[in-house]
Amino acid sequence: MGVKYQDYYEILGVDRNATEKEIKAAYRKLARKWHPDLHSGKDKQLAEEKFKQINEAHEVLSDPEKRAKYDRLGANWRDGQDFSPPPDMEGFRFYTTAGDPVSGFSEFFEMLFGGGDLFNRTAKKTRRGGPVRGQDVETELEITLEEAYRGGERTLQLAVKEICPACGGAGYTQNAFCSRCGGTGVVTAGKSLAVKIPPGVHDGSRIRLKGQGGEGLHGGERGDLYLRIRLLPHPVFKVEGNDLETEISLRPEQAVLGDRVLVPTLDGPVTMKVPPGTRAGKRLRLRGKGLPAQDGRGDEYIRIKIDIPDHLTTEEQELYRRLAALRKGM
Ligand SMILES: [Zn+2]
Repeated sequence: MGVKYQDYYEILGVDRNATEKEIKAAYRKLARKWHPDLHSGKDKQLAEEKFKQINEAHEVLSDPEKRAKYDRLGANWRDGQDFSPPPDMEGFRFYTTAGDPVSGFSEFFEMLFGGGDLFNRTAKKTRRGGPVRGQDVETELEITLEEAYRGGERTLQLAVKEICPACGGAGYTQNAFCSRCGGTGVVTAGKSLAVKIPPGVHDGSRIRLKGQGGEGLHGGERGDLYLRIRLLPHPVFKVEGNDLETEISLRPEQAVLGDRVLVPTLDGPVTMKVPPGTRAGKRLRLRGKGLPAQDGRGDEYIRIKIDIPDHLTTEEQELYRRLAALRKGM
């Protein structure tokens, strides 16, 4: 079955030069006449058909952009004629699917103006088939290293696409195209959602929130929401997989003689033994002080820096001189 040309001017019974006002008046009059609620029996089916045509004609002719596009087809077409778009006409979209009686638009209309956004397109394809699961949605969540380690709770503000509550996703209500969703059948709603961050997530981990994605259709379940974890840089620790690295400064005599020093860990400061003769750049390992891993926990590495004191007392200077003299004599 070919696509039939729709003469929207003829459907509304207006002149091709009709003003916006005249189009609106004609539409109102016809919509009242053919409203399906005012008809019954065999008449009702005809009324529904007419009502759809009137709405479609109004949708095109009341929108200057759509009307201009439609007018470019020229006045030589007859209503109901097999229609194929002129080859020079841009913006045509071809659909091989049959016209959907539920959408309220003819194939001609959809060829000319498309059938709405992607959401609607998928809905359209499967409308007769039964429930459709909603889309999965992914968004990024920035968390601190402490939150990744201990877990935490966040409240997210989400913009969620939902089936328009005014028209139930049809895009039109009894009288006209739905003004709430602009005929798309979908609205964007704000939603706040409390999210638990489980302890032990990593940079790039995905948290799945079941049923918090796009809304399903025809009783289909909602899609899922995925939160992709992005770890914020930490002032003290560098993260390498499950391991952490940090840096501490030793005075020369601590490095030479060895010492016990306080070092930061995610569990708070701990005392670490620095062996005698520790060189600058050496990495000392604190086993099991890293991030949670599948088989226990990663390690923390302490990189050693050696700081030369800025100001030495006279006594300290004297001691360094004696050290130097001792070395010379060896
Ligand atoms: Zn709506």
